[in-house]
Amino acid sequence: IAKKESGSSYSFFNQQMAMNSVSKLEMGNHLRQSMDRNELEIVYQPQVDCLQGKVTGVEALLRWNHTTKGYISPSEFIPIAEEMGFIVAVGEWVLRGACLQMKAWHSILEDPLTISVNLSVKQLNDERFVDKVTQILEETGLEAIYLEMEITENVAMQDEQLEALGRLRELGIAISVDDFGTHYSSLSYLKRFPVTKIKLDQSFVRGVQTDDKDRAMIKAIISVAKSFQLQIIAEGVETEEQADFLVANGCSQIQGYYFFKPMTADQVQVRLQESLQPKLSFMATIAAE
Ligand code: C2E
Ligand code: MG
Ligand code: MG
Ligand code: MG
Repeated sequence: IAKKESGSSYSFFNQQMAMNSVSKLEMGNHLRQSMDRNELEIVYQPQVDCLQGKVTGVEALLRWNHTTKGYISPSEFIPIAEEMGFIVAVGEWVLRGACLQMKAWHSILEDPLTISVNLSVKQLNDERFVDKVTQILEETGLEAIYLEMEITENVAMQDEQLEALGRLRELGIAISVDDFGTHYSSLSYLKRFPVTKIKLDQSFVRGVQTDDKDRAMIKAIISVAKSFQLQIIAEGVETEEQADFLVANGCSQIQGYYFFKPMTADQVQVRLQESLQPKLSFMATIAAE
């Protein structure tokens, strides 16, 4: 396409592409070694149930501290791991670490929390995936009912992948649709998918105070969750106004900087002692309405 427009833009375009693929390859090769080098780390972001007034779960989020480049965002390196085929190894590493950590928390917490782990659709292509998950649960001793897997909507989900999700459900693992509402396939998904929860995408939450359409989207998605008898959690909640709007409209599970940013396992242990009451004071107004 670029060639038709002008010769120079064509060659520029090519240079860009070549550069991108070299650094991608380089990054990919580093990533491949990152697990052995202890450069990968899991951080955890607590999820709050505002009606219960407490933390009920945490999401595991991957971090990569690159030796020379510093911190690299998972949005940048997960696609590379997917493309270069080692997302299966990375995903397994995260799952094992997260389950192990949650099992350790269970031995010290009164109320057991759930652990949510992000899954790449590519992991479902691996025939041995469900067996691997079963093995990791046995190895770590975490009960399946405390594990949730988050999967981003994907139009091109194959029957085999859906079947794998079904088998995970049969094990007792919860399945949530991440970034819900950002892909056009949302509704047909819920029909085909063995889903238990919807994660309301942060792009809608961001517009709570400024955008009528975002507010309408949120209300519509909450009503979809109700109709399908699914749980719903909002992500990316940063302000009291956003939390207030969500809870008032029937979404009482909240994840976001307003309550907690992602943090190391040690930090979680400390921060879980904190009282949520000051941040939940908006609930009094809702109750009074
Ligand atoms: P996600 O699963 O939708 O995770 C939510 C992202 O929003 C996280 O970004 C989290 O740090 C960020 N976040 C949470 N609360 C707030 C908030 O109040 N405001 C804002 N602005 N952001 C908030 P993060 O950690 O950079 O992860 C980005 C994405 O990378 C994740 O999106 C997920 O799709 C992917 N990812 C992370 N860890 C893994 C993993 O272990 N495996 C796979 N396959 N993907 C992962
Ligand atoms: Mg997620
Ligand atoms: Mg998300
Ligand atoms: Mg995402």
